[in-house]
Amino acid sequence: MEELESIYKAFREGGRVTTDSREIKEGDIFIALKGENHNGNTFADKAIAQGARYVVIDEAEYNISPRCVLVPDALHFLQQLANHHRRQLNIPILGITGTNGKTTTKELCHAVLSKKYKTVATKGNLNNHIGVPLTLLSMDADTEFGIVEMGANHPGEIKDLCEIAEPDYGIITNIGYAHLEGFGSYENIIETKSALYKSVKAKQGILFVNGEDELLCRLSEDAKRYTYGADGDLVKGEIAQTTPYLVYTLKTRQGHLYIRTKLIGGYNFDNAMAASAAGIFFEVDPLQIQAAIEAYTPSNLRSQLLKTEQNTIILDAYNANLSSMRAAISNFAEMKADNKLIIIGEMRELGDISHEAHREIMDMIANHNFPRVFVVGHNFESIINNYTFTTYFPDTDTLIEHLKTHEVVNSFILVKGSRGNKLERIIDYL
Ligand code: ATP
Ligand code: MG
Repeated sequence: MEELESIYKAFREGGRVTTDSREIKEGDIFIALKGENHNGNTFADKAIAQGARYVVIDEAEYNISPRCVLVPDALHFLQQLANHHRRQLNIPILGITGTNGKTTTKELCHAVLSKKYKTVATKGNLNNHIGVPLTLLSMDADTEFGIVEMGANHPGEIKDLCEIAEPDYGIITNIGYAHLEGFGSYENIIETKSALYKSVKAKQGILFVNGEDELLCRLSEDAKRYTYGADGDLVKGEIAQTTPYLVYTLKTRQGHLYIRTKLIGGYNFDNAMAASAAGIFFEVDPLQIQAAIEAYTPSNLRSQLLKTEQNTIILDAYNANLSSMRAAISNFAEMKADNKLIIIGEMRELGDISHEAHREIMDMIANHNFPRVFVVGHNFESIINNYTFTTYFPDTDTLIEHLKTHEVVNSFILVKGSRGNKLERIIDYL
């Protein structure tokens, strides 16, 4: 395709690819995507005025300059450009998907592999059909290793992302219950995520598999793989401590190491082990693996430990689905502390299983006998009468009003809920 060749040439000569009309600078290649609120095509004139070298559009009426390139579908063009670039880059690409822990695993792998290679990884959570191509396009001739987070909330999405990124290595962190509204069924979730395994296998690549996860072991049976975990063939490890931070031993062929992370939650053991396995496989010095993992601190509300003047809080208000909720609650239950308070928001987007899932979580909380339980959100309303030990708040604002008049002090608090509940807003009142 002629347009692709000339635009790729401009890119290799230093033209930045951007899809954000606010960021266009002289010499850039602007690709006009259609979002929920904006049609990028309508910024074609602005892009030209700001000196864009090429403006890729997909609506003929905006073809206002010789620098505009009209294509059938600008998003598809971005993906083709990224895939073309990926093929020119002669580097290993590690794809990471899964229900929970993708970003954490990606950041840990990035920290570990950066000790030895010039590594470029997905920024933040840019893990979708736009983020994946942009991640690939952020790699250049100096890049020695690429790490691509891949997210999905609909069937088939991981397959599409793999066709763009063509990963040689793959990690699925786990496969659990999330986005059921989009996926329709758990079988669809398995099918969608395991596309990463299929894609790596087709390239004769290598998978890193949590040896403790039966489903992942089964799905990767016929591929070239290495396992990590308590009895892993590449690296073995075990949790030494989880209060407050995860400490684990990593057993490699070179010896045993004690890794003191700044991560909350036993579930982060799996994420850290995945990164340890990648580090060992790619021959990063184990002491450097240790240093990288110990230095990593999570951000953006992902299981952070906070100390306010009056309380200690695990803030995990970034997202919530059935499997991450189960993990957070059992982890909190295992932690040794007095005066526990558990504040639980809703799990959104669970579709048909939503009612059952909220009930399961409440049963789980009941079994742990936490001294104080607050639940927030309408999804709990219909079941709450069965759980007399809880205090119910229809939304975060009501909870805040309550906290203003009922001070919580000297407590160890788990705050966990979906993004929609914005539970981080309560921290100022704790
Ligand atoms: P997203 O789908 O938004 O991209 P993600 O898969 O990238 O999410 P992270 O951002 O790494 O996941 O972690 C988000 C939350 O998921 C954490 O705060 C924690 O509650 C939970 N979590 C992380 N790792 C695991 C795991 N291995 N098992 C269960 N829950 C986990
Ligand atoms: Mg993520």
